[in-house]
This record gives sequence, structure tokens and C-alpha cells, in this order.
Amino acid sequence: MKIIAGNWKMNTGIEEAGKLAQAIAEKPVKDGVRAVVCPPFTHLQTVGAQLKDTDYALGAQNMSPYDDGAYTGEISAKMLKELGVAYVILGHSERREIMGETDALVREKMEKALKEDLVPIVCVGENLEQREAGKEKDVVGKQVAAVLENAAADLSSVVIAYEPIWAIGTGKTASAEQAEEMCAFIYEQVEKFVPGKTLPVLYGGSVKPENVEELLAQPHIDGALVGGASLKADSYHKLVEGRA
Ligand code: PEP
Repeated sequence: MKIIAGNWKMNTGIEEAGKLAQAIAEKPVKDGVRAVVCPPFTHLQTVGAQLKDTDYALGAQNMSPYDDGAYTGEISAKMLKELGVAYVILGHSERREIMGETDALVREKMEKALKEDLVPIVCVGENLEQREAGKEKDVVGKQVAAVLENAAADLSSVVIAYEPIWAIGTGKTASAEQAEEMCAFIYEQVEKFVPGKTLPVLYGGSVKPENVEELLAQPHIDGALVGGASLKADSYHKLVEGRA
């Protein structure tokens, strides 16, 4: 099973989002693929209405680790579930880098998502400096350990997304070999912390119809988390089909 998750980030107006979701929903998804659409919070209801009873699942881009109360500006897992959200992206590098999210916070959010039966897509990945210094596996290994080590929760539904920061929105995709090497390494880490469990590992970073086939053909790449190329129905459909 391959997972293709479209991360719209902070893009589209509500009307545009509704039209995009409608165009996406028109095409059925082939067996063996789970297609997820993650619009901004404010568009979840509109997009969710278009995707209801279709082959597409609804996802959010972030979530609070808290249930309710005095957390101005936050959105809880329960609120997401009320809108039909099934997946939630956590610890995206933009949130880690721009909003200062720590490994500990990402873990808290992941545990809350699991408790509320949302599927967490936990993002990990090194920046350019770390890769150039040959430290990419140290960085990613630490991020994976931070969420999986000694977890009390059942981690069976966790999805991990390897997104090298230098490849996000830059047009610079990791080569299939680079992506496969790190995803295989993540498989090893998962086995270390959660023996006997296989968690899906996605690749993200300038995935587009032209490179999706080669990436998805790698043995340890179970799907893709896609930003830019998920914002047009046509290219998103091609990603879901796994070819240009
Ligand atoms: C992302 O938003 O997670 C991402 C990988 O973006 P892009 O596909 O635009 O590089």
C-alpha cells in the first residue's frame, strides 16, 4: 500500500480550495493507494464536504497536544475529528524551523493523535548543512528515536515522512538512491525501537509526476508527502497514479 499525502500548506482561498477538492474527488483512486488531502484548518470543512464518501481521506497540517482550554489559536484532535479528519501531519520542518517545534512537542502531539485515533504523519529530515557535514543519519536517527523510543502508546498506525529540508520546495529532489538509503535507515530504526512492527515511510521533497515513479519503486519508500505538486488536481492525480 502506498500513501500519497498532499500538503497544501498555507495556500488557496476557501472557494479555490473547494473547487480543487471537487476536481480531485472526480477521479477514483486505484487499489493499493491511500490518497490524503491536507488543506489549511480553515478549509477543512469545505474540502471535507467535497471528499466525503470518495476515495480521498482528509488530513490536517498540525494539531495541538492539548484537549481543550486556554490555548489561544490552537486546534485540538477532537476538533479535527469532528470535521472528518483522519490524518495529521506533525513536526513538519517548517513548523520545527519557523515555529520552533521541538522533538518533545512533536512526540506529545503524536501521542495525542494516536489516543484520538488520528493517523500521525511524523516528519523528520536534515538540513543542507547537516547533510554536507555527513550528519544526516545522526539527525534523522535522533528525530525518529525522540518519537518512538519507550513509547507507551501503540505505534501501529504511525506514518513517518522523511523530508530532507534542502529538497522541500526547492525543486531539488533527493535522488532515488539518497531517499531510499535514508528510508531504509528509518526502517532499521523503527525495528530497533518497535521490534516486529513495520511503519510506512514516505519520502517528501519536490516530488512531482516526473519523479514519483522512480521514488515509489524503491523498496523502503511507501509513499510521498507532497507540497507544490499537490496544488493542481491534474498533477496530484498523476502522483496518486504513481506516474507522469
Ligand atoms: C512538503 O510540504 O512537505 C513538501 C515536501 O513540499 P514540496 O513537495 O513542495 O517540496
